[in-house]
Amino acid sequence: MSSSDSTRPVRVRFAPSPTGKLHVGGARTAIYNWAFARANHGTFILRIDDTDPTRSTEENTQVILRAMRWLGLDWDEGPLVGGDFGPYKQTDRLSIYREAAERLWAEGKAYPCFCTPEKLAEDKRAAQERHDPFQGYQRTCRDLDPAEARRRVEAGEPYTLRIKVPLDRGDVLVHDAVHGDVRFDAKELDDFIIFRSDGTPTYNFATVVDDAMMGITHVIRGDDHLSNTPRQIMVYEALGAPVPTFAHISMILGPDGKKLSKRHGATSVEEYRDAGYLSDAFVNYLALLGWALDGDTTIVPRDVLASSFSLDHVSKNPATFDTKKLDWIQQRYVQAMSDEEFVFEVLMPELVEAGLEREADPAHRKSWYLLLASVLKPRTTLTHDVVEKARFLYEGDEVTFDEKSVRKNLAKEGAAEALEAAREALSAVEPWEHAAIDAALEPVPERLGTNKRKFFGALRVAECGNQVSPPLGESLELLGRATALARIERALPLAQAPEA
Ligand code: GLU
Repeated sequence: MSSSDSTRPVRVRFAPSPTGKLHVGGARTAIYNWAFARANHGTFILRIDDTDPTRSTEENTQVILRAMRWLGLDWDEGPLVGGDFGPYKQTDRLSIYREAAERLWAEGKAYPCFCTPEKLAEDKRAAQERHDPFQGYQRTCRDLDPAEARRRVEAGEPYTLRIKVPLDRGDVLVHDAVHGDVRFDAKELDDFIIFRSDGTPTYNFATVVDDAMMGITHVIRGDDHLSNTPRQIMVYEALGAPVPTFAHISMILGPDGKKLSKRHGATSVEEYRDAGYLSDAFVNYLALLGWALDGDTTIVPRDVLASSFSLDHVSKNPATFDTKKLDWIQQRYVQAMSDEEFVFEVLMPELVEAGLEREADPAHRKSWYLLLASVLKPRTTLTHDVVEKARFLYEGDEVTFDEKSVRKNLAKEGAAEALEAAREALSAVEPWEHAAIDAALEPVPERLGTNKRKFFGALRVAECGNQVSPPLGESLELLGRATALARIERALPLAQAPEA
């Protein structure tokens, strides 16, 4: 079997069917195609394989385009951007498939078949009964007189168009860049349908016509398509087009070793975006599901991926989706941001979306945001985490109390004295900055004769409503003196030991 000549400029495509959202497996296929194109200074094409009209929707196409944008996988040709080999939507290419099929028919490489579904089923049963090693289509219409066949077609008889696989074709060897050489027995190759009786092309035909016309040099896709490959090679040969290099990538498994599916939780790219993952971290994680830069590097930024991706580092073993590892990578990306990046890329978008902030431009309170970033960033995995952690800062004098925290810290003997002493110390702090605030509060417990845990526990709940807020000095600085003192007033009535 021939393989693509290595002199053609690299052109790859990602060809999702818009029958649903972009899921994790599709996203990884897209990432590999994108990275392969970038690493080889090639062209990355996005093509919408919407020839299944019952399951494809325009809405799904839009969802897929949005997911590709969020992933940062820019395509060089395809929907929205155009290109010289369009259109890039299969339903807009029906006349191209028809022409290609007509040409094969005219050249005697395809022929019309008039067998009814009943006749085909009967032939199959008979082949099974006589234990025929060849169980495919029995080539009934292959040798019909071509002129006679034309006449029947023109008379309106329903027909499919079948490819004429040369009888001496022999086994098909697929040189797969991931799986190595895979041999398909000639017995498995029948004269399969390239055009259905309803006038629509089959997947194996339309895809190859497109890949051939678009000059695709490498077909990188899920290994559920490996079994389609010998048939597709027959189409390339009939068209007289060079066969691309195939790279079939393994499936992604859930933690139980079964194919990743809804049962395992989130599977669509959107769900991960909405859950608060950073696109860079998510792309990094997905890239590692079946590919490795070397033995142990786990942080592979987008630019490194785009310069170093190669098919010979793609594993043929299935990869297991591991949310813990994804979260670990996400944390690494969050921590690698500067406080300023964290403000603009995480804090502001999240706080605006949660309705806590109206202002999309934090310039007017830049130092306030930078301080908030410095305390929240180390405590953030998912970007949404910042919303609940920052909420107490947006409640004015009326912080929401967590009941359990109140019971354990405020409704305790000595809590009222602690708050009063804190109020006194805080009133005198100058300047209102966390270092000065911490320094003013530090000696108070000893002066009161109480322990630090009790003192700071009561004050923290009074100010932040709970026991798990960011460090107290910074929290108080962010609240401002007036709010901090007002919250103490509001908490004092709660700071009583329950009646014995
Ligand atoms: N539309 C096909 C799919 O989504 C693409 C197959 C291919 O890449 O050839 O599975």
